[in-house]
Amino acid sequence: MAPNRLANFIKNTISSIICLLGIPLFVRWIWKNKVAILLYHDVSPNVFAKHLAYLSRHYKIITLETLVLAIHNKDFSEVPPKSVVITIDDGHAGNIDLLPIIKQYQITPTVYVCTQIINTHRHFWFRIPHHQSKREKERLKRLPNAERLALLKESADFEPEKEYRERQALNIDEMRQMMDCVDFQPHTRFHPILPNCNDIEAKQEILRSKADLEELLGKECLHFSYPNGDYSEREIEIVKSGGFRSARTSDIGWNTCDTSPYQLKAISISDDAGLMRFRAELTTIPQRFGKWVNTLLWNTTS
Ligand SMILES: [Zn+2]
Repeated sequence: MAPNRLANFIKNTISSIICLLGIPLFVRWIWKNKVAILLYHDVSPNVFAKHLAYLSRHYKIITLETLVLAIHNKDFSEVPPKSVVITIDDGHAGNIDLLPIIKQYQITPTVYVCTQIINTHRHFWFRIPHHQSKREKERLKRLPNAERLALLKESADFEPEKEYRERQALNIDEMRQMMDCVDFQPHTRFHPILPNCNDIEAKQEILRSKADLEELLGKECLHFSYPNGDYSEREIEIVKSGGFRSARTSDIGWNTCDTSPYQLKAISISDDAGLMRFRAELTTIPQRFGKWVNTLLWNTTS
């Protein structure tokens, strides 16, 4: 069996066991006063609709702003039990197709975008066909930023500012259509791995992405998400002093009023998760298992 198919088979088997044992219901009950921030990337409308149908029956979908306000005030009285926040990273072009579902369920997800890739024909470095393998991507993520870019240039003639024929990210017309029901926030300019950047690069990627998006949309942007969920004390300091009110990581877990607003935890959801896998992923067990396997295979924790 191919590695991807085998991984899928294992994940689906684990998910079935988790659901059969009733763990999703148990987890929802014991953590009913903690808030889950779900993290998607390029989910299809079909899958997203199924997830929202389930969430709308069993959870209360709130905005990121509601959660961040409650954390800053150390007061969760306005946060209903079993609350979830929906976030979507990167600003993939396919996100526009989610708009009818977002309207149908009257939710306001937060979409974190790479501000020098949206509204251009530039590409995301992690979507280059030459580097599709998981092992290769994980290797690139561990390199110093300049080294990663040099390698991408050499092996795939990739440059962050090069324009391609195919458009991978949302454009401004699509974002304007979405703006009434989507909260757009910055996710750096080009999606580097921030801890691998030097001080100047890290500062520019974070602070200029805020300025870029504020100028493009004509509104203040106060929430950030770290690319690949990677951050260090330095990034927290830049985000804090740069005027952001929150930053979302991809550290697995739920949020309480004691969670640092600059280290918000998340529950990463597979963009292709069927309902069984989705319910299992809401318990975070498959992700924790996957992280453990990743650490063994690629010697990485992200
Ligand atoms: Zn990202």
